[in-house]
Amino acid sequence: MTHLGAPGSRDWRKSMNVLVLNCGSSSVKFRLIATDLDLIAQNADRRLAKGTIERIGGEAIIRLQVEGRNPQRTTSSLRDINAAVDFIARWAASSESGIEEIKSIADIQAVGHRVVHGGERFKQSVLITDEVVRAVEDCIDLAPLHNPANLTGISATRKLFGEGLPQVAVFDTAFHQTLPDHAFLYALPYQLYRRYRLRRYGFHGISHRYVAYRYRVMRNIAREATNIITFHLGNGCSATAISAGNSIDTSMGLTPLEGLVMGTRSGDLDPAIIEFIAAKEGLSTREIETLMNKHSGLLGISGLTSDMRELLAEESEENDRRAKLAIDIFCYRARKYIGAYPAAMNGADAVVFTGGIGENSPEVRARICDGLQWIGIELHEELNRSHTDGREGLISKEGSRPAVYVIPTDEELLIARDTVRCVLKERQHS
Ligand code: ADP
Repeated sequence: MTHLGAPGSRDWRKSMNVLVLNCGSSSVKFRLIATDLDLIAQNADRRLAKGTIERIGGEAIIRLQVEGRNPQRTTSSLRDINAAVDFIARWAASSESGIEEIKSIADIQAVGHRVVHGGERFKQSVLITDEVVRAVEDCIDLAPLHNPANLTGISATRKLFGEGLPQVAVFDTAFHQTLPDHAFLYALPYQLYRRYRLRRYGFHGISHRYVAYRYRVMRNIAREATNIITFHLGNGCSATAISAGNSIDTSMGLTPLEGLVMGTRSGDLDPAIIEFIAAKEGLSTREIETLMNKHSGLLGISGLTSDMRELLAEESEENDRRAKLAIDIFCYRARKYIGAYPAAMNGADAVVFTGGIGENSPEVRARICDGLQWIGIELHEELNRSHTDGREGLISKEGSRPAVYVIPTDEELLIARDTVRCVLKERQHS
């Protein structure tokens, strides 16, 4: 593998070009963002480019977009994550991409990785060292599909850029490390927690933390005054109770399977169902886990699709009964969290919707909030309808308490900002 040298000799006080990587088992999502402490303070970070590479291992499908230009789609034979990271870096530095700030690979000055599971060890983002890599390896048991892919991304980056390039790990679990023990422990024999750290970890932490930050910026309030319920509703879905700026409860558990109904995941169910299905269908526990993760949720109920937009169309255009049922169950289960979480946090000032469904579907938001007048929620029909396609703002009537907001998430931005902060902190200390 070619070694492309240490980062260029730029003045580190200037903005930093950060490559944000989200590596899966056969896909890589990336974003290039130029940012620094001043740009963060002004919310003026510059998004340079983004893209996805899917079906790595064969003829990969590559989508690339430089900010302000049309997206491109191409294919290339990429055998592994190393080849995909190499492709991204070379494309970014090429005259073909034409990104003004990146003339050579050395102009990428730091890499921020989304890492799914940081266990109990990581409560915030960290500069990646050999010790951090080992600790992420120690969490593989907790996220056997995700952490190995994230680690491959880290080693691919190291091979390509060399040891000199700072890399930062930003964990999906870290924000939820403030959960008190009465919220994170399951009512199982305590030694299972002691032996295996079996507990609720929660996920989507980067997203929940980002929208909580945007909320307090929008409201011009302190972190300590942030008392909200956040809903990340995408393919995966989760709710978080945020009290005094900290996550104090969240719907996903040891794994992302627990909690809300999702695209293909069942969310909460009676654990005795596993044994019941095993006996009736002759399936192994592993097969049942696959059934609950990949064939349940919106897809399982409707028998049609996991895609909320398609289900809404089936319901309204075809009057499909099971599409309606899937959406009803999805909304009902989310609504119950708006009832439950204020009890966990002594009342909430706002409910915030984010994620593909939360940001784009007035219909789903209205159905979740329906029948919550008793708690004080009153959606503003027109504001709700007009908040789609990345529009941020209030969607409830004046006086609604909790108020209701739509806040588009930007996990990559938060990763880039954490990366810059970690790198600068390290530089101050060295
Ligand atoms: P991921 O969790 O994989 O990042 P997204 O956050 O993009 O996914 O969310 C995907 C979900 O958002 C899908 O169910 C999709 O149908 C839904 N979605 C996107 N746009 C709309 C829309 N306009 N109306 C309803 N649902 C939408």
